[in-house]
Amino acid sequence: MKYDYIIVGFGIAGMSITYQLKRAGKSVLVIDGNAIKASHVAAGMYNPVVLKRFSLAWRADELLTYAKVFYNDLSNYLSFNTCENLPIYRRFHNVEEQNKWFSAIDNPRLSQYLSPYLKKEATNAIEAPFQYGEVMQTGRLLVKETFDHFREKLIDENSFINEEIDFTSLNVNDQEVTVNGHKASRVVFCEGHQLLKNPYFNYLPLVTNRGAYLIFRSEDVLLDVALKSHFFLIPLGNHIYKFGATYQNHLQIKNGADPELEKTTLINELKKLIKVPYQIIDLVAGVRPTVKDRRPLVGKHPRYDRLFVFNGLGTRGVTLAPDTSRRFYDNLENGVDLLPEINIVRFSDIYDQT
Ligand SMILES: Cc1cc2nc3c(=O)[nH]c(=O)nc-3n(C[C@H](O)[C@H](O)[C@H](O)COP(=O)(O)OP(=O)(O)OC[C@H]3O[C@@H](n4cnc5c(N)ncnc54)[C@H](O)[C@@H]3O)c2cc1C
Repeated sequence: MKYDYIIVGFGIAGMSITYQLKRAGKSVLVIDGNAIKASHVAAGMYNPVVLKRFSLAWRADELLTYAKVFYNDLSNYLSFNTCENLPIYRRFHNVEEQNKWFSAIDNPRLSQYLSPYLKKEATNAIEAPFQYGEVMQTGRLLVKETFDHFREKLIDENSFINEEIDFTSLNVNDQEVTVNGHKASRVVFCEGHQLLKNPYFNYLPLVTNRGAYLIFRSEDVLLDVALKSHFFLIPLGNHIYKFGATYQNHLQIKNGADPELEKTTLINELKKLIKVPYQIIDLVAGVRPTVKDRRPLVGKHPRYDRLFVFNGLGTRGVTLAPDTSRRFYDNLENGVDLLPEINIVRFSDIYDQT
């Protein structure tokens, strides 16, 4: 069989473009390897506000509005509720931060997201002398569960294969692309940080950023919002919490990742924050595929018309993937130009030099 599309990689990039193509009736084969997905490790939070400086994220309104429509449609498609509403409480560290919060609310575009009423208490376990600001319209994609449901559906439809791409098997000609013995009109690479191993697209300036979370259990924390102090503290249900994530680029971990150090760093921060007993369950880590300009990497290979890339979702991937996949679909199927900020054409000069 010759497919319309082969999608390589089933993290949030692969999942969102697969969904756009499948619901338009395209035939799709997903090929996904066994590497740990950043998308599975991610907390899955969507949030339009930059919590360090209380400003709006890039295209925040537009991205968030469509993300909600997209995940709602995806929930119907999978017969599974993919998201939960989860307010974020930003813990203030001093009065200056409180003042900055109220200055931010003066901006009408931000006032829809930042509550003017300070919150006194998020949980009994944390002292917050300067209180909290509540970010509204935020939530969490249940990432792993959503992927599991979607993968099961694809397996039922014979549209999913669990294997690594062997690049020596890849052949592209005027009619089709063959990869691992499967044929398609087009192949879209959605490999996350493993893009660096892709001989066709590894000229793109992808920067890897490792992130780790501590998973712990506590009967005493009693928290039903996501709390942001230095790190995020996120309730997962059944008294289990996620705490993190760390952020280390490839230069900071030149000599390899050090999970023990990550664990110690997170435990030390957790100890500063919560004053009740807890038991550490696990440390989970993934690698974010990021770009210096913090914009997605989307588009057609400069030389091969049948090869495409969808990547660069390492920051705010959950909010970015829906709108970016919609624009990518319109480009693939209707010839609509991609936004220049996300089009890989912006890095053509690097390709020309290779
Ligand atoms: C610790 C952490 C916390 C995060 N928290 C959030 C958050 O709260 N909110 C948010 O919006 N974003 C968050 N992110 C960022 C973001 O969600 C991810 O970085 C993003 O999901 C990346 O998705 P991806 O599809 O590009 O890559 P991945 O999820 O890594 O998926 C890539 C897939 O491609 C497959 N693959 C690669 N090469 C091959 C090959 N040769 N053959 C076959 N398969 C291949 C891999 O096996 C993998 O399944 C977080 C990231 C991390 C690491």
